[in-house]
Amino acid sequence: MSQILDQKFIEHNRQLILDHPPSLFVLFFTEMWERFSYYGMRALLVLFLTSAIIDGGWGWSRADALELYAMYTGLVYLTPILGGFIADKILGYRYSVALGALIMTLGHAFMAVETTTFVYLGLFALIIGNGLFKPNISSIVGQLYDTEEKKDAAYTIFYMGINAGAFLGILLCGYIGEKVGWSYGFGLAGIFMFFGMLQFWFAQEILGKIGLKPTGKFDLSDTDEAKEVVEESPKVVRDRLTVITVFAFFTIFFWWAFEQAGGSMTIFAGDYTDRSLEGNGAMLFKVFNTVLTIFPMLVITWVLFKLFKVTFSNFATSNSFLALSFIIIWGIVLWMLFREFSASNTEVTASWFGILNSFFIIAFAPLFSKFWEKKIITSGPIKFAIGLILLGIGFGILAFGSASIPQGAKVASVSMIWLVLAYLFHTLGELCISPVGLSYVSKLAPARLVGLMFGIWFASSAVANFAGGITGSYIDKITETYSMSVFFLIFTLIPIGAGLVLIVLNGTLKRMMHGVE
Ligand code: GLN
Repeated sequence: MSQILDQKFIEHNRQLILDHPPSLFVLFFTEMWERFSYYGMRALLVLFLTSAIIDGGWGWSRADALELYAMYTGLVYLTPILGGFIADKILGYRYSVALGALIMTLGHAFMAVETTTFVYLGLFALIIGNGLFKPNISSIVGQLYDTEEKKDAAYTIFYMGINAGAFLGILLCGYIGEKVGWSYGFGLAGIFMFFGMLQFWFAQEILGKIGLKPTGKFDLSDTDEAKEVVEESPKVVRDRLTVITVFAFFTIFFWWAFEQAGGSMTIFAGDYTDRSLEGNGAMLFKVFNTVLTIFPMLVITWVLFKLFKVTFSNFATSNSFLALSFIIIWGIVLWMLFREFSASNTEVTASWFGILNSFFIIAFAPLFSKFWEKKIITSGPIKFAIGLILLGIGFGILAFGSASIPQGAKVASVSMIWLVLAYLFHTLGELCISPVGLSYVSKLAPARLVGLMFGIWFASSAVANFAGGITGSYIDKITETYSMSVFFLIFTLIPIGAGLVLIVLNGTLKRMMHGVE
């Protein structure tokens, strides 16, 4: 399924960055700003809805807010089916990404107005915009490579961009939204979505013809891509599509448990974990938190300079937008760290644990990327199984850590270490599943359906987000009837069980991939 790369693309991508074409890093930063805005806004949404009217919020009940949150996070991953289809058939991937980014910029701007109509309009725009953006930028990544070998590594790097954005978005939009004002937080998300869009738009030539025109038709007669897939029998295509569907199905179990992060795990952090630190512990935390913030910033700034070195001569405008956004971000980060360092408050916030996930991704993604390239583990189903089992182990650690919590207790004070370890295992699992999954969709889908298949891939997250929210809401009931450990054991056993089933299916699935590794 290799594609024919055009001359312009080859010309612009001759000089590699970290062994990959510079185009990958243009997409890396575009996705980074989009995820910055997505996760930044998401971090604020429930807080904004539930905070009192006098504090600028809407004074909603927790239940109502979580319901809207579940609907939003569900729908945002459902529209990619539509967006992928539109890109395949009408707009092409590149214009779909740009249009999606524009619609999301408007969405964030609407949110910043904060009136009822504008907030709903904003959410609607974000749902539509994400549908156009997310599956299609993911699909362009795969199209940069004419062979399959480097795709796992490429998607792992891309995934690092996703999480660099998530990390900064949660940190900065969250901080500014809560401490300065909601609309500033929402607005910040919008500004960087806008910069991300401009950076992409002015660098798009670097992609040559990639993602420009839709593949058009369902019949396989008249496109470049068609010439390649046509060799492949309908049975091969059908089998591979089935494998994508099976992978998508198993990721439902993964995200269903993983997405407890924003729900029941945050409740656990808030009400059942000892977060107060004194003396040396407090000082240590401040230092750790500073390193935790500065380290990802240094890593991505280093990537930024690498990109500038290779692309500045041809793409100065795009690079300038990137530079400007980085200058602003560094300014906000340093201001925030300084403010926090001089504060005397030493309680770790409940939401702080959430950023550990993105931090661990940024720290470990380069290792994973190299590890996949070594080809020690080549089987997709086995990687998926390991991911599910690691996630299960993470919840097992939480089950163990909460063993001391009495049945039905509404508060407790267990060590923070359990959550930190759980996030570590969850992240290691995520690196085996999520970037690898993107890579497999790109390798297994026929060119004419790649957008749609990415849409289906993300739709599994829609189901998982929704089901995860519902299951999480039973935390009190299960803790009262059984115990907190039992609650976490559910998320231990089901993913591990799913992982074991995948190991059993490994042979069959590998056969059905017909040579794709
Ligand atoms: N965290 C990843 C992202 O935001 C994966 C999301 C998903 O597939 N559910 O892109």
